[in-house]
Amino acid sequence: MTGTPAPFTAEDYASRMRRATEAADAAGLAGLLIAPGPDLVWLTGYRPGETERLTLLVLRAGQEPVLVVPTLEAPDAAKAAGAPALTLRDWTDGHDPYEVSAALLGSTGRYGISDNAWAMHLLGLRERLPDVDHVALTRALPMLRAVKDAAELERLAAAGAAADATYEEIRTVGFAGRREREVAADLDALLRRHGHSQVDFTIVASGPNGANPHHEVGERVIERGDMVVLDFGGLKHGYGSDTSRTVHVGEPTAEERAVHDVVRAAQEAGFRAVRPGAACQDVDRAARAVIADAGYAEYFIHRTGHGIGVTTHEPPYMIEGEEQPLVPGMCFSVEPGVYLPGRFGVRIEDIVTVTEDGGRRLNNTSRELATVD
Ligand code: ZN
Ligand code: ZN
Ligand code: ZN
Repeated sequence: MTGTPAPFTAEDYASRMRRATEAADAAGLAGLLIAPGPDLVWLTGYRPGETERLTLLVLRAGQEPVLVVPTLEAPDAAKAAGAPALTLRDWTDGHDPYEVSAALLGSTGRYGISDNAWAMHLLGLRERLPDVDHVALTRALPMLRAVKDAAELERLAAAGAAADATYEEIRTVGFAGRREREVAADLDALLRRHGHSQVDFTIVASGPNGANPHHEVGERVIERGDMVVLDFGGLKHGYGSDTSRTVHVGEPTAEERAVHDVVRAAQEAGFRAVRPGAACQDVDRAARAVIADAGYAEYFIHRTGHGIGVTTHEPPYMIEGEEQPLVPGMCFSVEPGVYLPGRFGVRIEDIVTVTEDGGRRLNNTSRELATVD
C-alpha cells in the first residue's frame, strides 16, 4: 500500500480558484457561485456538513474569492486548507444570506452555479437579483475539473490500485450459495481496508440481474453457472476509483466466453482510441464498433465512459456527440458492456488517463474471464 500523499496547499487551492475565475471570465460569465460539494472541495478543500443554511463561494474576475458562510460555521471554514486565499463573509441566523450574497454580485450578467446547489438558494438569489441569470456549472464549464495535475493523478492511481487489490481478494471469497448483498458487503469492507474513506457503489449483479447495468445488490443467492458483474468504487484520499470485472461461478459455457471476449475486445479498442486530440466520442465509437460487428449493438445500452476525480462520475463523457478533444491529464472510465435481458450481462471497466503517448490504465487486473467458486 502506498503512503498518504502530501496534502494540497493553500497555494494549490488559490491557483485552482484563479484558473476557475479566468475560465469563467473567458466564457463570458460574470462569475461562479460554488455550493458545498465536489466543486467547493476541489476549489478550497472545505467540506462542510450538509445544512440548509447558505454557504456560497463567490468567484468573480477582479475580486478576491469570498466565502459566504453561516457565523456558527465560520471557525471551521477558516481552518480549510484553501482559507488563506478566501475572504469570509459570515451571516447570522435571522439575517438574510441572499442579501449578503447579492451585495457581492453585479445586478446583471450570467453566473455559473454548482450543479448540486440547492434550488432554495438559487431561488433566494433570483428573488434578490431578478436580472441576473444562472447556468449549471457543468454546462458552462464542463472541463473545469477534467484535466488532472500530477498530484491528482497520483491519488487517482492509488485509488485504482486499491480497487485492483479489492478485486484480487474478492475472487477468493466464494460466491456460490451466498447472497449478492453479502458479496457486496465484502467489497465494501475490502475497499475500506485498502484505504477508501467512502464507498459509492458495490454492484454485484448475478445471473439475469447482470443484464441491468445499475442493478443494486439484492437477496438473490448466487448459483453455480452464474455470470456475475462486479462494479465498485469510492474515494481514497479524496479521489475516485471505479472498476468492473465480470466473473463466472464455475466453468462458463462457450457462449458466455464468446460474449465476454467481445466485451474485452471492445474495452481494448476503446482504450486504444485514447490519445491527445481524439474526440471523446471516438472512444465510444471504437468500443461500440466491436460490439456492433459481433452482432450485439442493441445490447450495449449505455455510454462508454465518464470522467472521474473528486467524484466518481463527472465530465468528460465518452459518448456519441461529445466532440471535446482528449487532453493529457484527463481521467475517465472505458466500460463497454453487453446485457442480454433475462440471461446475463458482461461489463469490463478500467479508469484510463490520457498521456502524450496515448492511454494509461489506472486499473491493471486481468481482463480475462475469471472463474470463481
Ligand atoms: Zn454460466
Ligand atoms: Zn463502474
Ligand atoms: Zn464507471
